[in-house]
Amino acid sequence: MNTERSGGRALAAVFSGHGHPFQLETFPVPAPGPGEVLVDITCSTICGSDLHTWHGRRQEPVPCILGHEIVGRIVAFGPNTLRFDLRGEPLREGDRITWTLAASCGECFFCRRALPQKCEQLFKYGHSAIAAGREFSGGFAECCLLTRGTGIVKLPDELSDSLAAPANCAVATVAAAFRLAGPIEGASVSILGCGVLGLTAVAMARELGAAEVITCDLDPTRADASRSFGSDLFCEPADLLSDLRDLTNGRGADLTMEFSGSSAAVSAALAATRTGGIAVIAGTTTPGGSVAIDPNELVRRMLTIRGLHNYAPQDLVSAVDFLAKAGSRFPFHSLGGSSFPLAEITQAFETATSSPGRRVAITP
Ligand SMILES: [Zn+2]
Ligand SMILES: [Zn+2]
Repeated sequence: MNTERSGGRALAAVFSGHGHPFQLETFPVPAPGPGEVLVDITCSTICGSDLHTWHGRRQEPVPCILGHEIVGRIVAFGPNTLRFDLRGEPLREGDRITWTLAASCGECFFCRRALPQKCEQLFKYGHSAIAAGREFSGGFAECCLLTRGTGIVKLPDELSDSLAAPANCAVATVAAAFRLAGPIEGASVSILGCGVLGLTAVAMARELGAAEVITCDLDPTRADASRSFGSDLFCEPADLLSDLRDLTNGRGADLTMEFSGSSAAVSAALAATRTGGIAVIAGTTTPGGSVAIDPNELVRRMLTIRGLHNYAPQDLVSAVDFLAKAGSRFPFHSLGGSSFPLAEITQAFETATSSPGRRVAITP
């Protein structure tokens, strides 16, 4: 859609809380202020976190416009807006872009310590209550107003909208996990949890030159998908340690990544990591679990444990680069789902609910 054609108003699907139907409403198309960019949305994908919110398993300030995995074309720049993307490439009206799921100030305690995702002024797309004049803050709408501090990446033509949209969530998070892990060329990597994050991690581990990739999931039906993304060996949790020993001369994995969200998987990840190895824990974002750690193990095995939440802007560049360069070599298309117009957003959410692991798209 083209916001200029709609009499200065654009459509949005307003979410008012669990159990309330989406309301399709139009709002005036905002004029971007200083540092801001107005974008015509061409595609947004429904993330697991959107589904959690819709089903009432997670609370967001309402009313809001959900959706943070977004691709669109630049319509207008506000005054004094930097017209460069995260790579330093010039930006122009009409450019097809995606952007970081959050905007950060660049100046606070955490921003200055390379944790922009923990910015004290953090603004997250698809997670903010709408306010007059600031309605377009999420993906399930015809346009989006990018605030100052958003990292933009211009998309290469060969990357389709539906493949590029999840780059700013799942793929960038996995890129951040590998950044924390350090170089993995020749390493043995074990990946726990074979949903979208885990499968993306398998592909990225292969692309980065891992020697072996072993995957583990409670659900044995995920074996085929994990092999198709490049896993050498899929196992269920009960077999993880023995299979890893066989594969690594009894040592365990150089790097273990946990994307499953289960406390048991975190214990397994620590047990699966070799002496001196690294475990990146990224799967759990809701409180309530606990994991027993024997400090003697931690000390003697000299483990490094790194928690990861979201990502920094540079990881979005890595994610887009990875998809553009290697995306076609892995079956990412198998993670895509059907696509729906904005008017059918409820049907889109129902379809996404009944097809877990597939990214259903909304193309306004
Ligand atoms: Zn997401
Ligand atoms: Zn900040």
